[in-house]
Amino acid sequence: MSIAGKHDFPAGMVWLVGAGPGDPELLTRKAERLIRTASIVFHDALVGPEVLELAAQGARLVPVGKRSGRHSKAQGEIDRLLVEAALQGERVVRLKGGDPSIFGRSAEEMTACRAAGVPVAICPGVTAASAAAAGLGASLTLRGLARKLVLVTAHARAGETLDLDWQTLADPQATLAIYMGKAAASEVSRELMAAGLPADTPVALVENASLPDERRIGTRLDLLPLAAKAGLGSGPALLLIGAALGGGCTSDCQSIAAAETASKYSGAAGQSVEWRNPV
Ligand code: SAH
Repeated sequence: MSIAGKHDFPAGMVWLVGAGPGDPELLTRKAERLIRTASIVFHDALVGPEVLELAAQGARLVPVGKRSGRHSKAQGEIDRLLVEAALQGERVVRLKGGDPSIFGRSAEEMTACRAAGVPVAICPGVTAASAAAAGLGASLTLRGLARKLVLVTAHARAGETLDLDWQTLADPQATLAIYMGKAAASEVSRELMAAGLPADTPVALVENASLPDERRIGTRLDLLPLAAKAGLGSGPALLLIGAALGGGCTSDCQSIAAAETASKYSGAAGQSVEWRNPV
């Protein structure tokens, strides 16, 4: 138990807890303790059953999950539910995939709690980019080569086009970790090349990072749309772009690396070229 021990989760408090990328072993010990202590857990769609099983007998589990295009609850409604439960004296855990502070809407939830006088705190988690790099056996930064890491979302608001600063993103010394970028893979590839990033810039796609059905694909920027279309399924996926991913596809990674290979797959939409972890 941490130094803060039992005294950091009184009734009427909200903890925004990072559940990590999926593998329950990537939960922090603090997250596990908070989940076990909660009387009510509001959780995302991406939080798996093994993590939810940690909740105490009798604790209420409330899915408020969001998957792309399928919002089950509006953010304002989630904010209201958290505040209401805390004011009723519950010990509230808001369980989010990865790290709550990274594309997790935690600012809105913190603001709503504070406005209502509800104590609120964040327990960090392992973000998807870290898990994806681990799965690839890659480092997200490289001394002298990849000096900066950019976490960016390629998810546009409904009805809006992607409004990203492509010129800044197209930095050959950066590693880009693109969250929610699957649907925008073509645009990402096209815009980054138009902004000057070479067509052969290394790219890795990782779906279901840290989970048993993790898929890893190594490719290059010009082939990114093809790789995303042919190689990814319906799970959450991260696009990683930059020299740091240039270690090449290891033997346990599907490679879509050459134009000749690409031509084999073009026109083969839906054909599986996936790689899965050995069991
Ligand atoms: N707070 C989360 C990110 C939420 S946004 C975090 O820190 O990881 C949701 C996006 O995260 C997904 O669309 C996907 O791009 C990425 N993601 C989440 N879990 C993932 C996983 N296990 N594997 C690959 N990408 C994942």
